[in-house]
Amino acid sequence: MSERLQWIQDELDRLKESGLYNRIRTISTPQGAWLVVDGKRVLNFCSNNYLGFANHPRLVEKARQALEKYGVGPGAVRTIAGTLDLHTELERRIAAFKGVDAAITFQSGFTANLATIAALVGKEDVVFSDELNHASIIDGCRLSGARIVRYAHADPVDLEARIRENEGTYRRAIAITDGVFSMDGDIAPLDKIYEVTSAYNVMLMVDDAHGEGVLGKGGRGIVDHFNLHGKVDIEIGTFSKAFGVVGGVSAGSPLVVEWLRQRGRPFLFSSATPAADVAACIAAIDVLEESTELVDRLWENARYFKAEMKKLGFDTGVSVTPITPIMLGEAPLAQQFSRELFEEGVFAMAIGYPTVPHGKARIRVMISAAHSKDDLDKGLEAFARVGKRLGVIG
Ligand SMILES: *Cc1c(COP(=O)(O)O)cnc(C)c1O
Repeated sequence: MSERLQWIQDELDRLKESGLYNRIRTISTPQGAWLVVDGKRVLNFCSNNYLGFANHPRLVEKARQALEKYGVGPGAVRTIAGTLDLHTELERRIAAFKGVDAAITFQSGFTANLATIAALVGKEDVVFSDELNHASIIDGCRLSGARIVRYAHADPVDLEARIRENEGTYRRAIAITDGVFSMDGDIAPLDKIYEVTSAYNVMLMVDDAHGEGVLGKGGRGIVDHFNLHGKVDIEIGTFSKAFGVVGGVSAGSPLVVEWLRQRGRPFLFSSATPAADVAACIAAIDVLEESTELVDRLWENARYFKAEMKKLGFDTGVSVTPITPIMLGEAPLAQQFSRELFEEGVFAMAIGYPTVPHGKARIRVMISAAHSKDDLDKGLEAFARVGKRLGVIG
């Protein structure tokens, strides 16, 4: 190995010693309640496939038809020759579903955040950012060059204090928050946040990646949940979680969307999402608009699993959504817990720093409408056995 790269080996060794090294497991089946992972059949408690859409027959069929009609590749970026009629149809449909006037789609939720934040603010501006915001928001803020002012997690009072502290020092300001926080499963108090931002003429952006398909009427998301239609300037979304496919979206004011078509760099400089994926996203909206059955089942499953975990004596943190953290503290314990669950036939990943703060390692269980009650009971039994063996519960 070249001496110049020795530092990488040293860093990797340190990660392994501290229980923070990512060991990546490989899946050889479609997404669903059960998976074959590293050759072993296990109950899936890890996917963001909230509604079972990732392998839903209607989505697969629409994708197959689009594949046959359009082929595999987009051929260009959206602004040159990459915009299909399917892209504009998806943009219309997702805007209507969310109850906003306009939407623009991207390759992922990650790129939607990078594109949107960097287009809305620059060097003379300020971003007020929740201290637990997703990495893609943090990177978008850094990329924008704007001054980043963090406010205490989900705290509109602290947000107001930070805005007052900085008044007069900037050209434009935007407040950005996750809707549902992906590691804790709590919900931003968006109604209170809106009261603050509107009083100070600060733009408001929410990242609804874990809210779409989950919160609001039939999964219409956090703005619907708080009945804030027309008040939030921009909503970021992803098609990779409840929608079960891949892609990102910025939705809201037509003015913002038009600006992103001109200045959203991943839209201008990275190729469009392939037709099959776009068609599958449209089919997901079809299914969601027809019935609330899957969203209802997701919540039923989540309530049941969480209540039973609490009865067993586990600490599920502050979650009020189907995201169910099992708080364990130190990263090595969380990793051992995850390994032992896997031996018991349950796939639930340990999450540690830097995804969550030091000392707040956990197992994160993602409940899905694809789980049957029997699946959940099997999972609960495995958690009880491992929890007792490792002294986490009595
Ligand atoms: C997952 C996630 C993203 C990224 O979405 P992708 O489509 O997977 O890139 C962005 N923001 C939040 C809050 C997320 O949870």
